[in-house]
Amino acid sequence: MEIINVIPHGYCAGVIRAIRTAQKTAQENPDQKITMLGMIVHNQFVVKECQRLGIGFVEDPSKTREDLLDEIDEGIVIFTAHGISDRVREKAFAKGLTVVDASCPDVIRTHTLVRNHVADGDVLYIGKKNHPESEGTVSLSPRIHLITKAEDLDGLGQLHNVLITCQTTLSLIDTRGIIDACLEKYPGAKVAEEICAATRMRQEAVMNLRDTDCLIVVGDPRSNNSTQLKRIAFDAGIKEAHLIGSVLDLKEDMVKYKNRIAVTSGSSTPNSLTNQVIDFLKQYAKDGVWQLPEEALVRLL
Ligand code: SF4
Repeated sequence: MEIINVIPHGYCAGVIRAIRTAQKTAQENPDQKITMLGMIVHNQFVVKECQRLGIGFVEDPSKTREDLLDEIDEGIVIFTAHGISDRVREKAFAKGLTVVDASCPDVIRTHTLVRNHVADGDVLYIGKKNHPESEGTVSLSPRIHLITKAEDLDGLGQLHNVLITCQTTLSLIDTRGIIDACLEKYPGAKVAEEICAATRMRQEAVMNLRDTDCLIVVGDPRSNNSTQLKRIAFDAGIKEAHLIGSVLDLKEDMVKYKNRIAVTSGSSTPNSLTNQVIDFLKQYAKDGVWQLPEEALVRLL
């Protein structure tokens, strides 16, 4: 059995920056109440480690960031790497909160792009419904239309000077299909595909895998880029793929009798978790003993 360490995998620069921002805020403000608006990144282990630093979280997938902000009445609010709308930022200032913004520069770049464009045009923004990044971007202007699938275009009429763009963590393959559908309906539209370099490189590394029997993706089920890596495995012709939170979720049936097993992780997954899975599988490949560790190994950075 061969275990392939897919490179690159794990934390991207945007996530590292957000975690460092949260750590620094906690260190410099030991007497203040600090609350993160949503999960810092979609990974429950990272959230728990930040809680150990004294950072609280408000999170409810059924609520918008704007609604969640109603639950924070004092101290410091940290905006996550997913970016934030002007409305939420203004509401935080109006509530007298101190704002720390950990938005990823790649998301801010997309905000600048669409902000500039809506001055004289409409934007088709391909993204996930109820995802904090798409929520933050779409609420920048009523001229930004969220497209989650090609069928969403049916409800749109005539638009002016159309720009097609997208969320940073989407699947390269799926997004190309939706862009084509947008261009069919709005043939003169400009395209600015904004899938970030980190997401792109992790997906391309999976697409380039050859003769692989199984892909293990270490990541949280709520992490968009982790779930995309699992989907892309099937597009790449890998017959079996599993998304696991940590080594503790591994099952012997997932890997038994396989010749080549590749391991990767989304950009919100601590590398310690991925390395623990790789080390365990390498040991299993060597001695055939299935004895999982008692705890997941979590290092924030
Ligand atoms: S996945 Fe891309 S957009 Fe998201 S935090 Fe990382 S670098 Fe930024």
